[in-house]
Amino acid sequence: MGKEIPSRSEDYSLWYNELVKKADLAEHSDVRGCMVIKPYGYSIWEKMQQALDKMFKDTGHSNAYFPLFVPKSLFEAEEKNAEGFAKECAIVTHYRLKTDPNNKGKLIVDPEARLEEELVVRPTSEAIIWNTYKKWIQSYRDLPILVNQWANVVRWEMRTRLFLRTAEFLWQEGHTAHATADDAVRETVQMLDVYADFAENFMALPVVKGRKSEGERFPGAIDTYCIEAMMQDGKALQAGTSHFLGQNFAKAFNVQFTSKEGKLEHVWGTSWGVSTRLMGALIMAHSDDDGLVLPPKLAPIHVVIVPIFKTEEEFKKITDKVTEISSALRKQGYAVKYDSRDTHKPGFKFAEWELKGVPVRLAIGPRDLENGTVEVARRDTKEKKVMKMDEINTAIPALLDDIQNNIYQKALSYRNNMTTEVNSYDEMKKLLDEKGGFISAHWDGTMETEAAIKEETKATIRCIPLDAKEEEGKCIYTGKLSKRRVLFARAY
Ligand code: AMP
Repeated sequence: MGKEIPSRSEDYSLWYNELVKKADLAEHSDVRGCMVIKPYGYSIWEKMQQALDKMFKDTGHSNAYFPLFVPKSLFEAEEKNAEGFAKECAIVTHYRLKTDPNNKGKLIVDPEARLEEELVVRPTSEAIIWNTYKKWIQSYRDLPILVNQWANVVRWEMRTRLFLRTAEFLWQEGHTAHATADDAVRETVQMLDVYADFAENFMALPVVKGRKSEGERFPGAIDTYCIEAMMQDGKALQAGTSHFLGQNFAKAFNVQFTSKEGKLEHVWGTSWGVSTRLMGALIMAHSDDDGLVLPPKLAPIHVVIVPIFKTEEEFKKITDKVTEISSALRKQGYAVKYDSRDTHKPGFKFAEWELKGVPVRLAIGPRDLENGTVEVARRDTKEKKVMKMDEINTAIPALLDDIQNNIYQKALSYRNNMTTEVNSYDEMKKLLDEKGGFISAHWDGTMETEAAIKEETKATIRCIPLDAKEEEGKCIYTGKLSKRRVLFARAY
């Protein structure tokens, strides 16, 4: 059929790349590190956006839009942020091209059209947004500001991979401003909870909520919270971040407000984001050697119906029945696709929709019409059964719920199986090479130790879990005192 993908055990990385391409999600573009998101892939992203957008609005946020370009002097204002992103910045220096006098048909940069001030293509928008907030905030009555934007950003990444790490990516970035540190911390944690809720209830992806170590913190943040997920090859993936910015950006951009008591104070800030990386997480966490496995809540098509027929007359009769079934399902809010192509055989269609991860497939042939039955196949377990046609309307919603739940449970038990407590460095190294996964171990809390472990094993501290209990122990690397375990893993 030409659509086969390599198996995960053969070559996980190749499996992923081929799956992304063959399932029509995305492809590499002419620009290195950038991708084309194809309609089927984009429709999954849109479902993610819709669900997240609703959650943001339900928690009081509004959308706005800020420019793609950041004047370099503004970008420099928050030093740590600027330094942290400097290596990945694309810069606009000119605003005009002209015809090359020595080579007709070619364009060159017009040296006379040099910008007075260079513009950074935003890798993140704190600078431009805080410089705007300065104009919006005077008094405590102007706070809080709860704004989100859906946008693209550019980070000139050297090692890229479709969805997981691209040079340009789509994301949302929330930027909020508050009167007190408490309010800002509450917001940071609230948005982390929103992300975890979305990951678990829509993506069917269990995540660990935690805080980043100093070495992995967002440049310019006081504290970075994150959700971390486990992929099927034992590598971790940071799926979302929420930053408590303290007063760093307010100080850098001189954003002050008069408090209720009449005092002039700096504003407290947060920022939080998830990106098209979530598409990569979704694919890597659930899919199998036959293709995508999509949780029903994010599937662009819930049910695909394939007719099995030989004659035109059979096709017509089946189509009449399908129209009835699909309109009843659509009335309940499900997306139904009738694959009536006469250019492809049913077997081909089955494989194609499996590759594309459609949660439920119905097949109807002449015999089914006679018996009032339909064959129902679920994508997650590949189980098939014959059902009465008049049961479909109630059975499908229950089946989709069951699939959503089953995918989550499967990922959860995998994640649990891939999380190991370790008490020595040797044990950790062995485990990293043989199994991977999350390694729960004691760490002395220093950047030096973290860096040394990373250098020697390529494993990083994914997070200090929020629910880590106080437990005295010894750092696996230095033997120094530690108060709680942290999660190490090799990560994307
Ligand atoms: P950050 O602003 O660095 O906290 O990142 C915000 C979100 O974007 C996180 O959820 C990251 O996982 C994600 N992200 C960071 N860099 C990339 C990239 N190059 N491609 C896709 N997603 C990214």
